[in-house]
Amino acid sequence: MPRALGPKTLRALTDRVQYYRDLGIYDLYRREVDTVEPTPEQMAQIEQDMAHDMENKGAPFKPSVGLSGVVEDPVTALRLIREDLGDCTRCRLHQQGRKQIVFGVGNPEADLMFVGEGPGADEDEQGEPFVGRAGQLLNKMIEAMDLKREDVYIANVVKCRPPGNRTPERDECDTCSPFLYRQIDVIKPKAIVALGAVAAKTLLGLNDTMANMRGQWFDYRGTKLRVTYHPAYLLRDPRQKGEAWKDLQEVMKYLGLEVPKKS
Ligand code: SF4
Repeated sequence: MPRALGPKTLRALTDRVQYYRDLGIYDLYRREVDTVEPTPEQMAQIEQDMAHDMENKGAPFKPSVGLSGVVEDPVTALRLIREDLGDCTRCRLHQQGRKQIVFGVGNPEADLMFVGEGPGADEDEQGEPFVGRAGQLLNKMIEAMDLKREDVYIANVVKCRPPGNRTPERDECDTCSPFLYRQIDVIKPKAIVALGAVAAKTLLGLNDTMANMRGQWFDYRGTKLRVTYHPAYLLRDPRQKGEAWKDLQEVMKYLGLEVPKKS
């Protein structure tokens, strides 16, 4: 017989549903699970996690034990988000020539997360974000920060390639971005770098120019966010690389990384 939820857990669950609604997530799926009852210790841990979450309202939530009684480490949590995406047909991009969904790649516990716009042809082919020419440049940017690609997490606002590499439409971003928000929610990075205007506008809910959005820190639900140029733009206008490096140096300072004296 299913265990009745206590008032604390019930309130925390209500709070959690509201949290997802605030993010614009309305479709919640109830996953079939083995009907294994959580042990009293696991139940206590669930209540403790949720109580902690309620006390830290607004801070990203990261359960250590799932309601199914299974340990939900970030790898598992990301896998479950990918499963929720499924063979997604939620927006028109599913029928405009995508080969596959490009979910995200990197360290599921990364301190730093890069968010781009959407997959291009190479990414669509390989199923991994930022693997084409822009990806090579992003790798160099990451290495210049004295980090490795495996240290960070990389994802896009839309997970399917827009035809002809066009900019994703606002409604496509709105439909797909809740999955990005959930990825961020699991990874809980210390800082996010929004690569280009689409990522910045989506994450910040702003409609502003790159000139206005660069050069300052933003708050994304308790996480520091910096805006810089998309590597594809930097390939088109390499003169802006110095400006992008300035943005990354600010991120390095915030993360406590040593900034090289000479760039
Ligand atoms: Fe689904 Fe996102 Fe692909 Fe649209 S872009 S079909 S919402 S995965």
